[in-house]
Amino acid sequence: MHKAKPDWLKIKVTGGENRKRVEEIVSRLSLHTVCEEANCPNLMECFCKKTATFMILGNICTRKCTFCNVSKGTTLPIDQNEPSHIATAVKELGLRHVVITSVTRDDLTDGGAGQFANVINEIRNFDRRVTIEVLIPDFQGCLDALKIVIAAKPDIINHNIETVPRLYPSIRPAAVYNRSLELLKNVKEIDPSILTKSGIMVGLGELHEEVVAVFKDLRMNGCDMLTIGQYLAPSKDHHPVYEYIHPEVFDQYRQRGEEMGFHHVASGPFVRSSYMAEKAIL
Ligand code: SF4
Ligand code: SF4
Repeated sequence: MHKAKPDWLKIKVTGGENRKRVEEIVSRLSLHTVCEEANCPNLMECFCKKTATFMILGNICTRKCTFCNVSKGTTLPIDQNEPSHIATAVKELGLRHVVITSVTRDDLTDGGAGQFANVINEIRNFDRRVTIEVLIPDFQGCLDALKIVIAAKPDIINHNIETVPRLYPSIRPAAVYNRSLELLKNVKEIDPSILTKSGIMVGLGELHEEVVAVFKDLRMNGCDMLTIGQYLAPSKDHHPVYEYIHPEVFDQYRQRGEEMGFHHVASGPFVRSSYMAEKAIL
């Protein structure tokens, strides 16, 4: 059963030349954005501010998370021009901070880690001042794949924990809670200079204390930054929204996160991993 949205989740839709410009660049360079693929509620706002999160390694995922709008099925070959095209888009959009994510490519030996490194290197080749955040999959726990991304030295490695462990089987069936925590810990152990970040969606049926327990687990595994946002079902065929969390509860979560020592906590109904991501670092 899908619930009606409360007032605080009704957004004003505005148009803008910047949105057209982002769409034109993304389409001309055959790129994908998670903003469009995930049907993100902040798309108008972010595109109007000329920010976007690029999704590499195609737009078809090998996993079947029940909350996610990205297409699932047979993947396409890696586009060798993708790294230079992303660098071109970053340049044309004048971005100072860029977020790169991907579909999960369990079909590739390195899980796509090499393409992440190629994209980071291409962006750095054109401008070393651009800060780079990568939002990576779990690489099925493959440490060698993770090391490829770490060696490319992004400024931030983000890996979303997404939900509380009890809900993994129904929300993220192919993921493993402890494996995701381990990834964050490994980044810090291998290169402590890289900031780590994770995010959780709420409104999926989790309990308040379960969310706080996830915060503790993230901190125990060295996670530096945290995002908390409302889950919104992309369609009636996706996992339903269990509850719309009140903005005051988001404030409580932010306060708990700050008390626990996260360097930066973004918490609110519309917060997504990459929403105003540059604010945490610039
Ligand atoms: Fe969506 Fe990521 Fe899950 Fe793939 S792994 S279905 S892109 S959330
Ligand atoms: Fe794109 Fe992130 Fe903004 Fe959503 S919040 S539109 S995914 S940049």
